[in-house]
Amino acid sequence: MTSLASTDTPGGADHVYDVLVVGGGPSGSSCAYWLAEAGWDVAVVEKKVFPREKTCGDGLTPRSVRQIADMGIEGALTGAHRYSGLRAHAFGKVLDLPWPEHPTFPSYGYVITRHDLDAIVNERAMKAGATVWQGTEAVEPILEERTGGGNPSAGSDARTAELPSCVGAVVREKATGQTRPVRARYVVVADGANSRFGRAIGTSRDRNQPMGMALRGYYTSPGHDQTFIESHLDIRDGEGNVVPGYGWVFPLGDGRVNVGVGLLSTDRRWKGVNTSTLMDHFVAYAPKEWELSPATSLGPPTGGKLPMGLAVGPRVGATTLVVGDAAGTINPFNGEGIAYGYETGRLAAASLGEALLGGGAEALRGYERRLEETYGLYYRVARAFIRIISRPELMTLCVGTGMYSESLMSWILRIMANLLRPDETGPAEAAYRALALIARIAPEGA
Ligand SMILES: Cc1cc2nc3c(=O)[nH]c(=O)nc-3n(C[C@H](O)[C@H](O)[C@H](O)COP(=O)(O)OP(=O)(O)OC[C@H]3O[C@@H](n4cnc5c(N)ncnc54)[C@H](O)[C@@H]3O)c2cc1C
Repeated sequence: MTSLASTDTPGGADHVYDVLVVGGGPSGSSCAYWLAEAGWDVAVVEKKVFPREKTCGDGLTPRSVRQIADMGIEGALTGAHRYSGLRAHAFGKVLDLPWPEHPTFPSYGYVITRHDLDAIVNERAMKAGATVWQGTEAVEPILEERTGGGNPSAGSDARTAELPSCVGAVVREKATGQTRPVRARYVVVADGANSRFGRAIGTSRDRNQPMGMALRGYYTSPGHDQTFIESHLDIRDGEGNVVPGYGWVFPLGDGRVNVGVGLLSTDRRWKGVNTSTLMDHFVAYAPKEWELSPATSLGPPTGGKLPMGLAVGPRVGATTLVVGDAAGTINPFNGEGIAYGYETGRLAAASLGEALLGGGAEALRGYERRLEETYGLYYRVARAFIRIISRPELMTLCVGTGMYSESLMSWILRIMANLLRPDETGPAEAAYRALALIARIAPEGA
């Protein structure tokens, strides 16, 4: 970690980095790692000091593990709890669903606190050569006059327009209160779900798209070393109605479990549901073996937003890219965001590399194409799925039917965790293609 003071940058105060990354969570640290690994001069500003808490379920799926392995740090997860699948509970039935065998992804995941995980990944970026300022907040973007291209306020839909040219940030070191400009040829916005920096340069969330809210707390539990993570697909509100969301118990292997509830607030009728009440109900009704109670609680739960389905934009400007939660990249099927933070950070690094090699603004636009190729259809299918499960009678029918068949639920798990095999024509792929056809022909606003 570097201090902001005086001669901290290679070229002093006038130094212009190739890339400045705002935020050192999964998306920012992954982007910085892949850029630094390719030899680019990259700086990261992170307002907190690692290791730091981040409200999360702490669950890594095989998709996340793949990215961690590609960054060469799976060995650093030795203290993390490795697990082999999902135990689904709904309407009195229980199914154990192991992670599938897959040519690209491992068949296991980990549960690890973000306190530990994010410090490991950020350090990886630093060791690869990124300059990292912790305890330092980007308080204001440095914008340049546009020389062409779109203007976010000019288009009919701001999310499909282009961001203004951002060429750095005014940053403030928390310990000293000292502020100074940091300049770069390109800027990556990786500041998470609330994305104040992103909003300052013109991003916004499409309020017609799904949004999640989630709450989590830690408990001591005799089940802390279970080898399956647990999801409850029939959580209920104060009146006993099934709501679109799920409750979870994720074992950490260190005496604790991470317990939480997530709710989709797409449909108007779910906007008023209180997640604290949902959490209290879930804790009271979770299987007794976990021994969840106020006596085993390690503190009050904390919550956060889950912007999903690429609902935030614009994501590209002539000098700027937006990644991770700041771009709304969470998977709407399951609320998973860590893998998508790592992946979009990496996709952004690939486009930035091409831009830095001479491709300029046009190369940067390749990021949007990469996002569309990687997630476009899948997220349209997910949004169609959410429209279905936001109706309680359809949600009950879908989940209730699925719980009668282990093979059907295994396919659903593969779809929801984005672990389909492109080279295979198995039932999960066939079911997904049927859903994809619906998503292609059904209007989004329906
Ligand atoms: C309750 C809950 C449970 C969840 N459970 C899971 C789960 O089990 N598995 C999963 O995969 N996903 C889960 N998610 C989603 C996951 O937490 C996010 O998708 C993920 O953290 C996104 O990574 P990110 O790097 O984009 O953003 P963040 O992790 O939010 O990182 C952003 C970073 O930017 C920093 N920052 C912000 N503003 C500035 C600024 N102006 N200057 C400098 N630094 C700044 C922040 O301090 C932070 O470190 C959960 C989310 C919630 C709320």
